Amino acid sequence: MSKLFGTFGVRGIVNKELTTKTALELGQALATDLGNRGRVAVGRDNRTSGVMLEEALIAGLNSGGCDALRLGLAPTPVLSFATRYFSCDAGVMITASHNPAEYNGIKFWDSDGAGFQRWREEKIERILSRGPKMVGWSKIGHSESAEALPHYFDAIKKRVPKFKRGLKVVVDCANAVGNLVTPKLLRELGCKVVSLNSQLDGTFPGRKLETVPENLEGLAKTVVSCKADLGVAHDGDADRTIIVDERGDIISGDRVFAHVALHYLSGKTRPKILTTVATSSVLEDVATKLGGEVVRTKVGEPELVGELRKNGGDIAGEENGGVIFPDWLLCRDGIMTAVQFIAALDNTELKTSEFNLTLPVYFQIKRRLECPNHKKAKVLDRLAKRFSGHRISRKDGLRIEFEEGWLLLRPSGTEPIFRCFAEAKTEKQAKKIADLGMKELKAAIRQS
Ligand code: MG
Repeated sequence: MSKLFGTFGVRGIVNKELTTKTALELGQALATDLGNRGRVAVGRDNRTSGVMLEEALIAGLNSGGCDALRLGLAPTPVLSFATRYFSCDAGVMITASHNPAEYNGIKFWDSDGAGFQRWREEKIERILSRGPKMVGWSKIGHSESAEALPHYFDAIKKRVPKFKRGLKVVVDCANAVGNLVTPKLLRELGCKVVSLNSQLDGTFPGRKLETVPENLEGLAKTVVSCKADLGVAHDGDADRTIIVDERGDIISGDRVFAHVALHYLSGKTRPKILTTVATSSVLEDVATKLGGEVVRTKVGEPELVGELRKNGGDIAGEENGGVIFPDWLLCRDGIMTAVQFIAALDNTELKTSEFNLTLPVYFQIKRRLECPNHKKAKVLDRLAKRFSGHRISRKDGLRIEFEEGWLLLRPSGTEPIFRCFAEAKTEKQAKKIADLGMKELKAAIRQS
């Protein structure tokens, strides 16, 4: 069997790349992996294919001897929370996160609420290729329903004091499952909430699900026209958050992470911030303010969780706006991210745009260049030699530190391209670094 799991579980277009048969077999394989016993929490986002895949997956779990705890509609962080809260042996989330409506996906979670690491997914792939084990009729599992949302609400409200400023927030959950939690939670914490794209609709008519600036124009306009203090946007399963300030300007994911980290870790002795090689230097500024350190990993949530488990850390996050609070959940939680950002802002008298400027500003440029997969390793070696006079890191691609900023040249894991990220304190310097990166990348590809 070929590699089934991608970066975030199994994902594909429904009834083409991802079928009920796959869901059934994945359920059986997970049951086999768990020793044909135990209980598995199952949640799903509100895609039109969700119920169908859920039924197939639960049939698979039951035929493999596992009980299923049906959570129904839930954001991904709620599934992670519930897996631990209900002491399940594993969790399964049926979601395709930020992908369009025709996609769906299946992702497995450990009993501690963290997504399966790559080695565990490989184990599932091996079970699938051997053929999963089914149990005799008397050992078939059963399924029951459970309500996770009220417990998740209560747990957050126990941790977070009520806000004082009565900030007006526009919440855009893109007709997806974030609507089940974020608007109500922010209201109960003391915000005035205006909901946008708040009806659950698995065709996602309001906007595209990925929280990138081109999809958030509606939110930005609404924030300005409602004279709101800020806007909050989630992706399809609410494990990411992007913020819009009162002028309608987007605050990027790494800055959201930085503000949240500064607030969440204040008062902590020498805190450790985990992030990837692709995130802004503003995290180093935050670490300096806190007297702590930044540890950089490869790109991706599993890398961050792997590092958290191995060497520990106080917070972890990526540039896409997904933050992990390890003393809360071992899963990116966009809802908690929004709550903590607002808590930080609520502590000040500032407008959101002014608050954003309390951390240094950096300019980022992101480009890409085609490169055949078989050349990627050679190109990287060449680039490492070319920049050997600088401080470099080869953790994931090649990151080069300059006086004015940094450059990341990184081959994509899924497409035949190299990505070129540059960051500096001015736009001109960032462009200069990006131009240099593209020039050297072109030369290295030509010579390889
Ligand atoms: Mg997501």
